Amino acid sequence: MTAEIIDGTKLSEKILEDVKNRIKDSKKRPGLAIVIVGDNPASEIYVGLKEKKSKEMGFQCERYDLSEDIKEEDLLKLIDDLNQKQSIHGIIVQLPLPDHMNENLIVDSVLPHKDVDGFTPVNLGNLINDNNMIVPATARACMELIKSTGIEIKGKNAVIVGRSKIVGKPVSLLLLQEHATVTICHSKTEDLREHTKNADILVAAAGKAKLIKKNMVKKGAVVIDVGINRTLKGLEGDVDFEAVKEVAGYITPVPKGVGPMTIAMLLDNILIAMKLTGK
Ligand code: NDP
Repeated sequence: MTAEIIDGTKLSEKILEDVKNRIKDSKKRPGLAIVIVGDNPASEIYVGLKEKKSKEMGFQCERYDLSEDIKEEDLLKLIDDLNQKQSIHGIIVQLPLPDHMNENLIVDSVLPHKDVDGFTPVNLGNLINDNNMIVPATARACMELIKSTGIEIKGKNAVIVGRSKIVGKPVSLLLLQEHATVTICHSKTEDLREHTKNADILVAAAGKAKLIKKNMVKKGAVVIDVGINRTLKGLEGDVDFEAVKEVAGYITPVPKGVGPMTIAMLLDNILIAMKLTGK
């Protein structure tokens, strides 16, 4: 058996086309502000991608590059200004922030309806209440990729490897909303394989290259690889793709899987935010 490759780029193009059309039909131009603090090379790449794609789609994108030693109060002041600014509908504070900053405090200062990353307690709390407002883009991306296979999620065993606020936890909650039986694994899980081998849906979001081997995957499973690991061999996912594709039913590649879909869902989140602000 060879798995069907889920083409994240192709799926993202459909979503982006829809985003573009909705912007064309709208009377106002959606505004995005991206705040980046310090010189983190990975953040630089991610911010560059978001900026490029959003501009291509017709968003107004403002980028704020701040020095590593900016005071927390000055960053909070900038976020407050952006919260008040009518032309800005979505604010991204690129993570990670420098060590001297209280990341939760900064993220929580973004108004929930402008929090297009979906990381504020209000948006994450809404997710727990099954009252989704703005949902973290990577988690939405995983769901769209799973749904694109056409499998029924209800009643299936879903195993998530990783419990971060950005990916693991929100994707687990979304799968739970769709009535999957969800298991969340993490670095302290005693026997990872014992869990993953029963997964009909397996989401790998650990940030460990090739953590998921062929003998850890159930025949016919849907395997979503969120991991982006820069190794000596280049960019690698959390799944040993070449081996696992021989046993899985569906699998996302890295790159061209979750990555492009995350950007597409982020831009969709900005349109959701624009609707919520009503301005
Ligand atoms: P974090 O480092 O915040 O979380 C990683 C999680 O994986 C933690 O919960 C950790 O457990 C768990 N973990 C680590 N090692 C193991 C292991 N050996 N076995 C089981 N669980 C393990 O990472 P993120 O959630 O932010 O990101 C995960 C990956 O996804 C990264 O590679 C990141 O680059 C990528 N990513 C990709 C995106 C995309 O658009 N494609 C977007 C966002 C992230 P514990 O909690 O116990 O420490």
